[in-house]
Amino acid sequence: MRPARALIDLQALRDNYRFARKLAGSRALAVIKADAYGHGAVRCAQALHAEADGFAVACIEEALELRAAGVQAPVLLLEGFFEATELALIAEHRLWCVVHSLWQLQAIEQASLSQPIQVWLKLDTGMHRVGLQPGDYAAAYRRLQASGKVSKVVMMSHFARADELGSPASNDQTAVFRAATQGLGAETSLRNSPALLGWPQLPSDWVRPGIMLYGASPFEEAQANASRLKPVMTLESKVIGVQQLGPGEPVGYGAQFVTDKPMRVGVVAMGYADGYPRHAPTGTPVWVAGQRSRLLGRVSMDMLSIDLTEVPAATVGSPVELWGRNVLANDVASAAGTIAYQLFCNVRRVPLVYQG
Ligand SMILES: *Cc1c(COP(=O)(O)O)cnc(C)c1O
Repeated sequence: MRPARALIDLQALRDNYRFARKLAGSRALAVIKADAYGHGAVRCAQALHAEADGFAVACIEEALELRAAGVQAPVLLLEGFFEATELALIAEHRLWCVVHSLWQLQAIEQASLSQPIQVWLKLDTGMHRVGLQPGDYAAAYRRLQASGKVSKVVMMSHFARADELGSPASNDQTAVFRAATQGLGAETSLRNSPALLGWPQLPSDWVRPGIMLYGASPFEEAQANASRLKPVMTLESKVIGVQQLGPGEPVGYGAQFVTDKPMRVGVVAMGYADGYPRHAPTGTPVWVAGQRSRLLGRVSMDMLSIDLTEVPAATVGSPVELWGRNVLANDVASAAGTIAYQLFCNVRRVPLVYQG
C-alpha cells in the first residue's frame, strides 16, 4: 500500500478550539468550510460537537453534508444563499444565514418559510468583497426585523488585514462597524483567526476561528499566541528509493537541481497530485528519519526527491514528514510562496487517518 497519508489529530483540534474560545472569552463558531480546510468536515464537526457553539461553512452543500451526518449544532452559511430557492432548505434545516447583499434581503422578505431563520447581516467595513454598505446597514437591519421571517439578527463584518500586526486597517474597520451599527443593540461577530490571536482589544460576541483550529498560524512572522497552537495534520510518507550520485548529476524533471558533490538522494512517495505544492523549490524543509532535511529539484506528480547526504540513517522505508509538528506547514508554505490555508485545502488522494 502506498505509504502517503495525512494523519489528523482530533485532540489537537479540540485543544485549539478551546484555546480560541479562551482567548476570545466569547462564543466561537468553528469554521469548517472547504472540508475543514482539507481535514474532513464531518469528522472534525463530530470531534468538536460536545463543545463547539456552532460551525461555519461556505455554502448550503457543505451544511447539508453535516446535517446528513447527524450534526445538529448551529451551522452558519458564510456566503448565505446563492439562489432564493435555497431558503426553504435553510429554514427546514435550521441553518444560520449570512445576508451580504440587498437582493438577499429582498428574497427573504418575499419568501414563505416553514419557520423564521437566524440572519448574520454582513457589513462591508473596508474589505470591499461582500457586505452591505454602511449607509444601507441600519435600514436593512430594520427591514429584517420587520419582515416576520427572521428570529434573530447578528451583526458581522470581516477583516482584510488582521494578519498584518502593524496595520491600522483593523482598527479602522472596527470604527466603521461601530458607527454603522450604533444603537442597533444586536450581537456582533468580527474576529477571524488573526484577529483572535493578534488583536485582543477588538469586539466580537461571536468569533470565527478557521486556520488556527488546524494549528497553523495566519501570520508570516512569529507571534506568541500562534506559537501555542498544535498542528492537527501530519502529511507523511516514506522513502521508496535511494540514489547515490556523483557530482554534476541532475535530479528530477527539467534537471532543476544538479549535484555539486557526491550526494545521497531519497525518493519519497508524495507529489503534487497529493497536494504537495509543485512550486516548492529546492531547500524546502522536510523531516526524514528524525532529522530536518530539504527538498531537491522539481516535485513530480507522485514523487519528490530529498537530500539524504547528511541523514545516513535514512534508507528505503524511512518515515518522511512533509508537514506536521516537526516541519510546520507555515514553513513549507513560505518556501513555496503560498499560505498554509492553501496547502491544507489542496490535500487530496492521500487517505485521512484520524487519531484522538
Ligand atoms: C474563512 C472565514 C473565516 C475564518 O478565517 P481564518 O482566517 O481561517 O480564521 C472567518 N470568517 C469568514 C467570513 C470567513 O470566510
